[in-house]
Amino acid sequence: MLCPYCHSPLQETAILTKSDQQATTYECFTCGGHWFPRWLANDISLSQANNADSITPQTSINPPEFPRCPECQNRLSLIKHDSVPRGLHVYTCPQGHGNFFPKGELIQFKKAQEAKITYHQVWGIPIKSIFAVLLPVALVLSLAVGIPLTTRQVQQSAETRISADEVFSSPIITQIPPDSISLSFSTTLTGSTTITLYQNNQPINTYTASSTPTTIHTTTLKNLVPNLPYTFTITLETATDTIVSKPYSLSLSP
Ligand SMILES: [Zn+2]
Ligand SMILES: [Zn+2]
Repeated sequence: MLCPYCHSPLQETAILTKSDQQATTYECFTCGGHWFPRWLANDISLSQANNADSITPQTSINPPEFPRCPECQNRLSLIKHDSVPRGLHVYTCPQGHGNFFPKGELIQFKKAQEAKITYHQVWGIPIKSIFAVLLPVALVLSLAVGIPLTTRQVQQSAETRISADEVFSSPIITQIPPDSISLSFSTTLTGSTTITLYQNNQPINTYTASSTPTTIHTTTLKNLVPNLPYTFTITLETATDTIVSKPYSLSLSP
């Protein structure tokens, strides 16, 4: 794999996670950048990050305008999210392959993450959502077809379904190892929400995301089987309407 910044070959490097698991990162010894498979950056300690970021780059480089994922060559995007302090550069692959940290950014990110956790612990303030501190993991989300509509969905007018795209934000999905997923999204209308999970086009479970009317919704989907393709829809109940999102597909990495 080649470095998204300078295109030098990335070196496989062993790293220990906070729970003492062996993991692999991909280091660039030319520009000092790091490629982390998805989720891993959330799971290393500050000292591991410090070690990784102590690599002295051979050259300083001008980053390309559009860094690309070393795995799928898609354009990486900068994460603009509560978990990444403003001004830091953390890139993510749209297909969820991982995160790229240019030289020096990993340690800044980990310091900010630890500081936020410590702040909440010291003041006894619960962290509103794990998304406040963890990098989101963009799993493959795409429009799935062929889901049989439930009776209630069929009763909706076509107009309501067309406008659903404007009501739901794209869900942010974060994998919680080993087999859970945390889902977060917002709605432009206030209401309560449920998630319907499908497998092979059959509804297999329903989860409450918000039992009381709100516009920010989170829930955890537990006991998923890695590598199995799932689909889900979000149902929003406002005071007057029931609106169903388009179907999203997701799969959990092993
Ligand atoms: Zn590089
Ligand atoms: Zn990728």
